[in-house]
Amino acid sequence: MTTPAASPPQPLPAPVPPVNPETREYWTATTRGRLLVKQCADCDSLIWYPRAICPQCGSLHTDWREVSGRGRIYSYTVNHRGEGPYQGAAPFVLAYVELDEGPRMMTNIVEADGAYLTVGLPVEVVFHDTGEGAALPRFRPLRS
Ligand SMILES: [Zn+2]
Repeated sequence: MTTPAASPPQPLPAPVPPVNPETREYWTATTRGRLLVKQCADCDSLIWYPRAICPQCGSLHTDWREVSGRGRIYSYTVNHRGEGPYQGAAPFVLAYVELDEGPRMMTNIVEADGAYLTVGLPVEVVFHDTGEGAALPRFRPLRS
């Protein structure tokens, strides 16, 4: 009796995100390789996730601002079991990345062997196109 070989993980899927009037500009920018966050015009807070109201001061005066797409791993975990569209993609890395500008995004770390990932590792954004008007921002170790 032989043990079946484990099949290699599939590429990380890029499921289509929900797009609404508050987030349309953000998702359109991702298809052009640009990462945007909101900034409050009254208190200057950078706002993540995208929304119309500043969570710091309640202002409705927010504008889009492009950020560098660079940051550091704030926290991460290696998922060994995928659900829904991620079934068959395990293992994959789920992480919080703290952008150089401050906000922390939940995302995936890609193009990396989970064995050498560490908190504080510099990363840069890459965009995985869904093919339907949005691209998912994910991060890979910074290549200098
Ligand atoms: Zn504010």
